[in-house]
Amino acid sequence: MFRKTRLFTPGPTPLLPAAQFAMAAADLHHRTPEFRALYLKVLAQLKVFVGTSNDVVVLASSGTGAMEAAVTNLTSPGDKVLVLSAGKFGERWVSLAKAYHCETVVLSKPYGQTFTVKEVQAQLTPDVKAVFVQATETSTGVRHDVKALAQLVKGTDTLLVVDAITGLGTTAFDVDGDGIDVIIGGSQKALMIPPGLSFLSASDRAWARMETSTNPRYYFDLRKERKSCAKGESAYTPAVALIAAMGAALDYLEQQGSGDLAKGRDLLVANAELCALCMRTAAAALGLELFSASHAAAVTALKAPEGVSSSDLVKGFKKEFAGVLSDGQGEMKGQILRIAHIGYLDYLDCIAIIAGLEQVLAQLKPESFQYGDGLRAAQLVYAKARQNVDKS
Ligand SMILES: *Cc1c(COP(=O)(O)O)cnc(C)c1O
Repeated sequence: MFRKTRLFTPGPTPLLPAAQFAMAAADLHHRTPEFRALYLKVLAQLKVFVGTSNDVVVLASSGTGAMEAAVTNLTSPGDKVLVLSAGKFGERWVSLAKAYHCETVVLSKPYGQTFTVKEVQAQLTPDVKAVFVQATETSTGVRHDVKALAQLVKGTDTLLVVDAITGLGTTAFDVDGDGIDVIIGGSQKALMIPPGLSFLSASDRAWARMETSTNPRYYFDLRKERKSCAKGESAYTPAVALIAAMGAALDYLEQQGSGDLAKGRDLLVANAELCALCMRTAAAALGLELFSASHAAAVTALKAPEGVSSSDLVKGFKKEFAGVLSDGQGEMKGQILRIAHIGYLDYLDCIAIIAGLEQVLAQLKPESFQYGDGLRAAQLVYAKARQNVDKS
């Protein structure tokens, strides 16, 4: 049997061919007019993709580099910060804030859960300098309510810092309207390019905070990077090939939106939402339970059926179809299966995952699964969505 390798993981995600070609062709020096023109264009496009008029900077690192930069640039040792943690990436904020000697107050919820506004409000004393949260907690498939959090910090001196590394391109944000101070993205998620770049936008008050904060920073000094970006440069040697790839990916989104990048991004978000809805509906039809209390479109987390390990589902799917799904992380290993809807994946990919999953489930637990149950449920979701599009 012939098997095509396919990534259905929440980062890295499938690569956009046009971006791969742009990478291969990116044979240019970074201190030249050619690179400056490219970089200025990409930075302007990135602002549209993020949906902000705030300045955006790009860093040569995986997403965690931008998370660390947010902590070092915005805080001073001893600062009280509030971390909302309900998964592996929330825990990363806790580790980072502690590593830089912040007085770290952690509001934590069990994996799969989210926070109520009241719970956050109770921790949000006026001396809290910053709140750190994930928009979508990739380890659990949960969406946190960033809009409600932004409402809470509005009019206070507390900065809201959002890890939207799987949120951007799968979730609608009103960054400036809501008042999100810092929002962070990474290249290997919805931007459809390889790992290696992170980026963030910062509000005026976040930029102002960086002038008085005293935690150490050098390579990830965002003020220095911002000054260079204004000239179409990077403080150090930029990841030229990845920036070219990012430009090609943003061009592709612009084409999808018939020349309007914001529209193309909205289509990308709508695509993730539709695929996630198909997956959740298929799961329900198959009798599989969702792990998340509040569902992110970025990733669907499903509890493994009684008597089956999610690790065996991941292994079976890889062996049968060369498709890569994600197991749970840490103590969720063996318990949950994670399926991504991020970036360059569409409805046909989603249908293929459901069909493959039915097949693997039927191998592991033949008495419990009927071929086509999940597929039919997803097809009905798609048909209904099409009707609504045709009507509008
Ligand atoms: C992927 C991801 C990150 C970044 O991880 P890196 O491995 O550093 O790129 C951070 N937060 C979330 C929510 C993610 O999904």
